[in-house]
Amino acid sequence: MEPSDQAYTNEEQLIEDKFQELLNGYLNSNHRKKVEIIERAFKFAKEAHKGIRRRSGEPYILHPIAVARIVSQEIGLGSTSICAALLHDVVEDTEYTVEDIENHFGKKIASIVDGLTKISGGIFGDQASAQAENFRRLLLTMSEDIRVILIKMADRLHNMRTLGSMLPSKQYKIAGETLYIYAPLAHRLGLFAIKTELEDLAFKYEHPEAYNQIKQKIAETEESRQQIYNNFAKPIVAKLKELGFDFEMKARVKSIYSIWNKMESKHIPFEEVYDLYAVRIIFKCPNEADEKKECWTIYSVITDIYKLHPERTRDWVSRPKANGYKALHLTVMGPDGNWIEVQIRSEKMDEIAERGFAAHWKYKVGNSDEESELDIWLKTIKDILEHPEPNAIDFLDTIKLNLFSTEIFVFTPKGDLITLPKDATALDLAFTLHSDLGFHCIAAKVNHRLVPLSQKLHSGDQVEILTSKSQTPKEEWLNLVTTAKARSRLLAALRKDRRKIIAKGEAQLKEFLESNHIELNNELMTKILSNLGLQHRDDLLFKIGNEEITLNENIKKIIKGKSLNPFMRYLKLSFGNSNKNEQPKAPAPQQPTIDRKQTYILRDENGVKNYKVADCCCPIPGDDVLGYVEDDETVVVHKRECPVAMRLKSSFGPRLVSTRWEASEALSFPAKIEIQGIDRMGILNEITRVISNELMIDMRGLSIQANEGVFNGTVNIMVHDTRVVESLCNKLRKIKGVQKAARCKE
Ligand code: MN
Repeated sequence: MEPSDQAYTNEEQLIEDKFQELLNGYLNSNHRKKVEIIERAFKFAKEAHKGIRRRSGEPYILHPIAVARIVSQEIGLGSTSICAALLHDVVEDTEYTVEDIENHFGKKIASIVDGLTKISGGIFGDQASAQAENFRRLLLTMSEDIRVILIKMADRLHNMRTLGSMLPSKQYKIAGETLYIYAPLAHRLGLFAIKTELEDLAFKYEHPEAYNQIKQKIAETEESRQQIYNNFAKPIVAKLKELGFDFEMKARVKSIYSIWNKMESKHIPFEEVYDLYAVRIIFKCPNEADEKKECWTIYSVITDIYKLHPERTRDWVSRPKANGYKALHLTVMGPDGNWIEVQIRSEKMDEIAERGFAAHWKYKVGNSDEESELDIWLKTIKDILEHPEPNAIDFLDTIKLNLFSTEIFVFTPKGDLITLPKDATALDLAFTLHSDLGFHCIAAKVNHRLVPLSQKLHSGDQVEILTSKSQTPKEEWLNLVTTAKARSRLLAALRKDRRKIIAKGEAQLKEFLESNHIELNNELMTKILSNLGLQHRDDLLFKIGNEEITLNENIKKIIKGKSLNPFMRYLKLSFGNSNKNEQPKAPAPQQPTIDRKQTYILRDENGVKNYKVADCCCPIPGDDVLGYVEDDETVVVHKRECPVAMRLKSSFGPRLVSTRWEASEALSFPAKIEIQGIDRMGILNEITRVISNELMIDMRGLSIQANEGVFNGTVNIMVHDTRVVESLCNKLRKIKGVQKAARCKE
């Protein structure tokens, strides 16, 4: 046999042995014995990673096996998680896809592997970037299946255990990240043993000297500490035995990292860390109902012997910590005059303290279904993430991720992860997902709250795009998008849209003229254009197609009536302008002087108005208005309640003229409506339905902000007059949840 063959055989044997250890551990657990699928997952992963080695030189498959073993033995999860752990790097590192995994192992395992693949780089990796709140949201979304986080935790733990073979620069980065994100997260999830190990490993790579010094001092003081402990424990052990307790008592030295933390925060040397170790009493308690009583019995045994520190009793038996930790802590004066902390736990409480909620597995009763049992546990963790306990050491406080990133990560309602450039809006996301979503997008829900299309997204946001069939791309949207894709799609659509509308307008005009037996020629077209003050044929057709110009009697009048010679019209305009320049105070000759004593009729003949609308208050036909006569005898129309009009009234009384609208249905005016109400599912849809379907009103824009269950929004519409606005507001107010709907007073 060649040496290499020998090595190969040894390696094969090593892999088989490691897998067998994993399997044996699983078989010794309380889980159902689903060995077959685990063996298949192992074979699949082994084949997929075949020939690949880790930096350390060992076959890659040993890593997934080790991760699966942590998942099984140290976290306590079952076959689904073990399989997902075995397969966790397959999609990321090999040619197999999530679909392949699903075909072989079903949806559940595939979706966990998918989740792990998605967070392999982005979220916890090089581009990690999120503020604490975003990070929490991110976790919330991920905790759809918390197993993703738990397996990720196991993956990181194994990487930390084998960090020695990495490049020093990588070591530093991974260690820092571990201390920053993973250890606090482990704490939050109640995985105390893992948390402590992660901290110590990270600390070892970040501060090797301090780590070794503390480690050495612990070893040096071991003997004297043992001596003190023995003296302390003796009378307690005797008494508990006498009372018939089945228990274990031991001294647990604090972790190196937490000793260092204490030295740093209190500025004290190692020798002055008084609570270097704690004494732990773990008792067997077959009947869970007796747990609390027995804790207090032991408590009283200890306090009968030693003097109690009055302020350091912690009862986490009656009121467990949010992460599930249960124990009774007390501090007493030891025989050598030093304070000693004693932690009293039942075996089950100890298991939970070490392994978090996963420990509940071991204690499940009856033959309850595996998944539902698991679901309950997963839900508990989810609750913790959703309702952080203010007093608990909050990992969110410790997370201050750098904001160096130029990318953000958001989720679809289905949990798909989408990467977008920083400052991307909800509209960008809509276009990223699908052009159709972009074109018909009316609003979005970010973390279940309604937001306008312009809403900037943040990492961790869960975003749902709301669409409406009647929605079409808008010119203004160009200002709302940052991604190149959204921009180019939007521009193309706007061009295409305009062509379509022009074609529609052309057909309408043709039909209108035919039904009136009028022939369209160049002369007629010029006549119409000049009458309406338009430059190009396409502009006219666009306005017709877009229903800005209605083909009615007024148009007929223009066509049949005598119109101004376009050349003359041009002359007059330029003459008027030059006249104005040379003699600024003189009115234009063709502009009749307005009789201030008469009511001025506001006319609008197909877009040619005999007045100007004031920018400040944008009145529309039906509004109570007044006119202000400018130097050139132009009437500017203000709403009566407009503050500018008030000022004009007081200063320029003689220039004011009373006005009246001439009834006209031909043209549309922009109006803005303000809506307020209580946010609820589907309310936006109802609002848009009322606006566009029921009343056939042209909606130009909708912007809604929801905050703490209340929403505020504005709707921009095109209407003929105030009656339409009033009737719309009435309808809107009838929608359940809408509390206010009124035209904006601007
Ligand atoms: Mn891995």
